[in-house]
Amino acid sequence: FKVPQPSNEITLNYTPGSAERVYLENALADEQNVTTEIPMYIGAQRLSTDVKKPIVAPHRHQQVLAYCNYGDGTHATLAIKAALDAKKTWEEMPWEHRASVFLKAAELISTKYRYRLNARTMLGQSKNAYQAEIDSACELIDFLRFNVHYMAEIYAQQPPISAGGVWNRTEQRPLEGFVFALTPFNFTAIAGNLPCACAMMGNVVVWKPADTQIFAADLIMQVLLEAGLPPGVINLIYADGPQVGDVVFKHPDFAGIHFTGSTNVFQEIWKTIGNHIHLYKSYPRIVGETGGKDFILLHPSADWQAASTALLRGAFEYQGQKCSAASRAYIPASLWAAIKNKLLNDLSTIKMGPPTDFSNFINAVIDEKSFDKVASYLSEVANDDEAEIIYGGNCDKSIGYFVEPTVILTQDPYYKTMCEEIFGPVLSIYVYDDEDFEDMLTVIDHTSIYALTGSVFAQDRLAIAQASEKLKNAAGNFYINDKCTGAVVGQQPFGGARKSGTNDKAGAMVNLLRWVSPRTVKETF
Ligand code: GLU
Repeated sequence: FKVPQPSNEITLNYTPGSAERVYLENALADEQNVTTEIPMYIGAQRLSTDVKKPIVAPHRHQQVLAYCNYGDGTHATLAIKAALDAKKTWEEMPWEHRASVFLKAAELISTKYRYRLNARTMLGQSKNAYQAEIDSACELIDFLRFNVHYMAEIYAQQPPISAGGVWNRTEQRPLEGFVFALTPFNFTAIAGNLPCACAMMGNVVVWKPADTQIFAADLIMQVLLEAGLPPGVINLIYADGPQVGDVVFKHPDFAGIHFTGSTNVFQEIWKTIGNHIHLYKSYPRIVGETGGKDFILLHPSADWQAASTALLRGAFEYQGQKCSAASRAYIPASLWAAIKNKLLNDLSTIKMGPPTDFSNFINAVIDEKSFDKVASYLSEVANDDEAEIIYGGNCDKSIGYFVEPTVILTQDPYYKTMCEEIFGPVLSIYVYDDEDFEDMLTVIDHTSIYALTGSVFAQDRLAIAQASEKLKNAAGNFYINDKCTGAVVGQQPFGGARKSGTNDKAGAMVNLLRWVSPRTVKETF
């Protein structure tokens, strides 16, 4: 059975005067003019509650985008029941019909909902048009189409040998129970992919998005239902995480979690699952992508102009709120003056403000908690002798949560901002003596508590080979002469090890294999 050969969705540019720009501007106006009321989606019901929680634009405290019907633990119970009720019909449906739902959803996003979904991502998560386009349009569509392709390959895989008189087969069954998808604010594509990857393989899902991503999550759910997803296969609820967790992780039918979020939350979840392991029918699958402290290392032979651009884009696109963001750099002394000049000069040309003004490169950070965390790091650095802020450093939350793109220079490669995840528009730099390149490899490996992404810039092949070998466990996605963000589905499967997660690459066959439980059948004639 052949599914269509996927190719990556083409990115639209939204240049002034283009038709796509007009469509996106209209969608932004529509989404801002109507204050939507967002229901929870449990089984066939669109559920209201007494708690109407405002969804506010991160870049403007005054702007209420929607009210969502906020629930509690009881809604997790209802969602689990609805999921288990839908399970039999969904898992018995021939897989090509399941595939078809997700291919249609991809098509609907590409042709009908692209601008609205981008608009919701821009407004709700404070992303500029380009960052929204590569996320809620291209990456989400790619996840859906490529995963259907991998799904077909998984179902086609069979044991290579059946000896005479025997027929060996593998059946890929969904997990027994329901899967919990706990999704992040920073990528609409990830929020959509986590429940869909599980559901595609025949599982039923309870989906709880981050409170700060509900605006776009609601539209993804509408698209899935329009694409023919039977009610109850994915149930979308909004509630306090610990309240939901208290229900989900005590349920005997809990079969797995598909998670992207913070390292701390993931570790707490893992412990809770461990504490309740005796309750479950099966050992739950635990799949998570968590933090990052991603590096860019330059060798003296590096193309410094390309590296400087990579630093700017890697560190500051989407306000540094990508798990993959370049938050620390190691630069040889011989290149520092040129890089500093270009980087600070380029930074002085970029603008900060709301995403509705398309000329703004930097928008707001997601919420007050993030803002306060970044601001507190910056005030500590301002009072520290071991480091100095050489660009930016100002924060202002009077209108929205704005943090200037900030560059820190330190004389200590083990300084806290070189090691700890800040998750904001902050780049820390250590300048090393040119002959210490190999020492830098040791320093980076030692300080890589996380191991998500990293880049090396060099023209010298020996240096590239050394870095590649010495840093082989320091990044699940390793880039040579490129920035460390922007992995493309189908091209660079994404995920990291160490404290960055279970490295079950998003948008890859290995990830889908976590959502099936194979049965081997031997028949003797
Ligand atoms: N896949 C994204 C990238 O390569 C990052 C995803 C994340 O932040 O979790 O930039």
